[in-house]
Amino acid sequence: MLRLKHVFKEYNNQSVLKDINITLPNKGLISIVGVSGSGKSTLLNLIGGIDKPSKGSIFINNVDVTKLNNKDLNWYHNKYLGFIFQSYNLIDYLSVKDNLSLINNNYELILKKLNIYNLKDKKVNLLSGGEKQRVAIARGIMKNPKILLCDEPTGALDSSTSVDIMNILKELSKDRLVIVVTHDMSLAHRYSDYILHMQDGKILNELNIKDNYKNIDIGKSCKIKSHKLANNHLNNKKKRNILISISFAIGLISLGLVLSINQGFKKAIDIEEKNSLSKYPIIINKDSNNIEDSLRNKETDNNKVYSNDNNHINIIT
Ligand code: ADP
Ligand code: MG
Repeated sequence: MLRLKHVFKEYNNQSVLKDINITLPNKGLISIVGVSGSGKSTLLNLIGGIDKPSKGSIFINNVDVTKLNNKDLNWYHNKYLGFIFQSYNLIDYLSVKDNLSLINNNYELILKKLNIYNLKDKKVNLLSGGEKQRVAIARGIMKNPKILLCDEPTGALDSSTSVDIMNILKELSKDRLVIVVTHDMSLAHRYSDYILHMQDGKILNELNIKDNYKNIDIGKSCKIKSHKLANNHLNNKKKRNILISISFAIGLISLGLVLSINQGFKKAIDIEEKNSLSKYPIIINKDSNNIEDSLRNKETDNNKVYSNDNNHINIIT
């Protein structure tokens, strides 16, 4: 069993993981989802002992691995953990079998199981992405680890190859714990026994996990269905959604109020203008100006009324 208790991680005084508390079963496929930067890889690296938490404990089979010295930690690594990465981390210029024999020589059966035995003499740089990831999985499970940690294993693959890889991981999760960090919600929902949603260094449905795990034996925990979790997740967000709706409604009402006050104000000014201006008579001065006459240096006759084509229309009645 894998258990994280009050795990914190800081990088340069910046909090990346904030009080992570989870207990995971011995078998099953657990997905960790969340936006980029939410701390998924950091969490996986801490579980894998690649990095140490700033605070808190990580128990694997009731041993706090954060307290182990390097030698014991290596032993734990070898016995319990396997890794799979998005970028495969294979040695390109070596053949498949040479990559695997860096771990040990028991690769034949695994290659057959993963349907890539025919590729064993091929150099890695000649393989497709899906084939490379199969080789990486083969390497990850060579020592038959109890926990397989996969960071975006389908991140560089097309969707049908991703499905192939997820099927393999699902099969492997029947007798070990497989933790998959992924961006792909649809794959997570389709394949996971349990989904952990991470946001801003925290696990959103931490409480549900605890509640659900209270009455669950380690072996049975994988029966929890992911759609249940999706519902839990939606319920968790209910409060937030209601608050968003209320603020939106307040915004709309305020906008309406401002607009109607503005309209009323305009009308009041119009009425005021009409009332005050209509009191005054229209005065026409006996003073004329004719541009044509002035151009010809002729005196304008003030007793004459000249017509003007561009008449001004006065709208004040
Ligand atoms: P995710 O895998 O969810 O995309 P990460 O766990 O990789 O997120 O990163 C979470 C945050 O921690 C990011 O803001 C990242 O910049 C920061 N971070 C991760 N590793 C390091 C590191 N070695 N040094 C400093 N900051 C890091
Ligand atoms: Mg990551």
